[in-house]
Amino acid sequence: MSIAGQLQKIHRKIAESATRCCRHPGEISLLAVSKTVSVDSIREAAAAGQRIFGENYLQEAEEKYRQLSNLAEFHCIGHIQSNKAKIAATIFSMVQTIDREKIARELNKHRQAVGKPLAALVQVNVGGEEQKSGVKAEDCEKFLFAIQELPWLRVTGLMTIPPYSPNPEDSRPFFRELRQLAATLAAKKLFAAPKVELSMGMSGDFAVAIEEGATIIRVGTALFGER
Ligand SMILES: *Cc1c(COP(=O)(O)O)cnc(C)c1O
Repeated sequence: MSIAGQLQKIHRKIAESATRCCRHPGEISLLAVSKTVSVDSIREAAAAGQRIFGENYLQEAEEKYRQLSNLAEFHCIGHIQSNKAKIAATIFSMVQTIDREKIARELNKHRQAVGKPLAALVQVNVGGEEQKSGVKAEDCEKFLFAIQELPWLRVTGLMTIPPYSPNPEDSRPFFRELRQLAATLAAKKLFAAPKVELSMGMSGDFAVAIEEGATIIRVGTALFGER
């Protein structure tokens, strides 16, 4: 199936999942994960109406930004090394993987030159997996408090990648935990806006994520095929 066809199919599935749990499909935005995907395929998706794309690797993202910034915007969903913070602060409209104070401060510093705050999400390691990046759930409050004062970083919510499982239902408790954590933090006024973003759910489990409150789903394989 063409990229436009897959995109339509995903939007239908988003609408079905949203309707099932009495949410409005318009509350959920689709981030097209385009790591390793060609510039031509991104153009094709953009021509079919897709606007935001998720990239994991700085070098790849920079090249795509150079070629496509007139028709697409990019979110960072990968790890950022602090020596790459300047590029990241320039090319991304949102960084979803804030997990260290150092990187938050570096992005803040370099974003000033853009003249518009950088939207950001804190990545939470809900599964508590040893090898995975992300702030531990119990450390989030302190972390958000520490980066709250940075004027060029606008932290609007949380992002997570639960432990991998072929069964989407296995992700549900982690998605639920992220939503509850976000609600607790929002009550303490630790986010920059009243609308709190929850970036969760990928090709295999985005329907479950929507049922648990996702506002951004990150979909690669279901849109562009196997990497
Ligand atoms: C690659 C990636 C995705 C997309 O995964 P698919 O299973 O291909 O939809 C989503 N989020 C992050 C952080 C990723 O690295």
